[in-house]
Amino acid sequence: MSETGYQPLKGQRAIVSGGSSGIGSAVCKCLAAAGAKVVVNYNSSPGGAEEVAQEIESNGGEAMVIQADVGKEDDVQKMFSQTIEKWGSVDILVANSGLQRDASFDELTLAQWEKVMNVNLTGQFLCAREAVREFKRRGIVPELSVAAGKIICMSSVHDIIPWAGHVNYAASKGGVLLMMKSLAQEVAPLKIRVNGISPGAIKTPINREAWETPEAEEKLLELIPYQRVGEPEDIGKAAVWLSSDDSDYVHGITLYVDGGMTLYPEFADNG
Ligand code: NAD
Repeated sequence: MSETGYQPLKGQRAIVSGGSSGIGSAVCKCLAAAGAKVVVNYNSSPGGAEEVAQEIESNGGEAMVIQADVGKEDDVQKMFSQTIEKWGSVDILVANSGLQRDASFDELTLAQWEKVMNVNLTGQFLCAREAVREFKRRGIVPELSVAAGKIICMSSVHDIIPWAGHVNYAASKGGVLLMMKSLAQEVAPLKIRVNGISPGAIKTPINREAWETPEAEEKLLELIPYQRVGEPEDIGKAAVWLSSDDSDYVHGITLYVDGGMTLYPEFADNG
């Protein structure tokens, strides 16, 4: 149950890829608090996913842990079929899995390029395609939602802010941005809503070195007009709203949840 007791996702079934850690785990918990049953996906180590599922269940929610490498077509198809077998269908996909393999451009290996593209972009394609297939097959269930299904693509402020030394990551997130918008255009007549969330700097394992010492955090805050580093729950709450009928007329947009990082903070007292 959410702090307010408001459960806009009551009875809906959600799959969260990479729900075992960081932003994904907060998204799982927030969706569950809003009334959804949640598949907590992980790829390599089940521990984090099991903890998230236990926390959801101890708060009276329902969760299921499923292993799948989002870059593998078979794994993604199995994750959807297991969910549909157990819970009847899927209403919400949060395509969240992502990783970085950083290097200066001339040192960037093909393996690092392909790994990031495979998880961050192909993984979102494979998950979104299975979701669209299921939403299309099932159509609208009016007791649950006015939409036939909702997809949220976890992107990054680096879908519009260039990022030296992370060219593979920025390219993958730029790809997510236009995949999301093109898909949104295509499936709107089916009443499938597709949106993106682009987090700024959120405290998770992916960027630990950027916030874990006071010096690093101070430097990071120079990029954040709102003067705090984001918490995973900031993204979880945005995901609840974008999955719910409260945002029913919001389609094909990217919600930047970034404390103003995309406001060109260096221009606040310069230029
Ligand atoms: P994280 O490292 O804590 O979580 C990444 C998740 O992706 C993990 O659960 C991991 O198991 C999963 N994953 C990795 N490879 C996978 C695969 N092959 N199959 C399935 N799952 C896989 O990092 P996070 O910060 O929570 O990142 C979540 C998403 O948010 C990513 O897409 C990331 O790019 C994005 N993001 C994070 C930040 C930030 O500041 N933390 C900012 C912008 C965007």
